[in-house]
Amino acid sequence: SQLGFFLNNLTQATAAGERLLEILDYPDTLDRDREHLTGEIKGRVEFRNVTVRYGNVEVLKNVSFVAEPGETIALLGLTGSGKTSLTSLIARFYDAGEGQILIDGEDIRHWDRHTLRRQVGVVFQEPFLFSTTIFANIAYGRPNASEEDVERAATLADAAEFIHGLPEGYFTLVGERGMGLSGGQKQRVALARAILLNPSILILDDATSAVDMETEYQIQQALQQVMAGRTTFIIAHRISSLKRADQVLVLDDGRIVDRGTHDELLSRPGLYREIFDMQFQDFSSMNNVAVLTGTSGSRH
Ligand code: ATP
Ligand code: MG
Repeated sequence: SQLGFFLNNLTQATAAGERLLEILDYPDTLDRDREHLTGEIKGRVEFRNVTVRYGNVEVLKNVSFVAEPGETIALLGLTGSGKTSLTSLIARFYDAGEGQILIDGEDIRHWDRHTLRRQVGVVFQEPFLFSTTIFANIAYGRPNASEEDVERAATLADAAEFIHGLPEGYFTLVGERGMGLSGGQKQRVALARAILLNPSILILDDATSAVDMETEYQIQQALQQVMAGRTTFIIAHRISSLKRADQVLVLDDGRIVDRGTHDELLSRPGLYREIFDMQFQDFSSMNNVAVLTGTSGSRH
């Protein structure tokens, strides 16, 4: 079954809105003194009875959880269950209608928006690339970054190798008037952009859904390093991410219907096990497609 793993039109419309906000709200300068800033923020994230409505439709209903600093929180749920909406709140792409969101115990509505954006790195479901060089795309939000910084971020994101293979390396033009990149390549550029910010909180929205199995494995390896010491929210469509998470939150129609570790959730009947089984099937059929066509097995 492909249920839940393809974007519907509405989600695409949402993603377009997120892109716009990403462009408008990204910090245009960054303190050189980042260690200091990072040191100040531990990255504890707490939701207290958060409810969000779009019009009169409730897309998040009374959501509460605590993510301790450095923890990995995986979000699992079918399409439209609220995963992107939930994580978008943390970087304040939206504000909650009801309830409170706290970072290190402080209501995020009291945080300066730019400070917050520097501390929350986001890789969107559909990464956005600007019509400029790869270098500027990665250094976006940190325009004073050195070549070494950019190279290091690209290496961590497992993007350096493919970039070196491009006609003009980091100075290859991409985006609307430049070279087309695959979904997986775009995601890796977006991941490098997030890494360069050195955020305390990292949000990976479906960050590895559009890549092939081998790249997925490499990104997983890279991510382990990237995620270390950061509170990470990962919207995971892959078993490996779920297994490694400290907590999995299972979302259904805007509510957290179950939570626990992978092992705990798998040991009892419920939505987790259903989705897990379904995904596992989807996963194997995707493998077959990859073998038959000799291509990357991309879902999109
Ligand atoms: P997917 O797995 O497809 O990415 P998701 O779990 O991330 O789904 P959300 O994108 O958070 O789901 O959407 C949750 C609900 O909110 C859906 O019913 C969606 O249609 C609705 N929604 C999201 N953004 C908006 C918006 N800007 N305006 C109106 N409705 C929205
Ligand atoms: Mg989503």
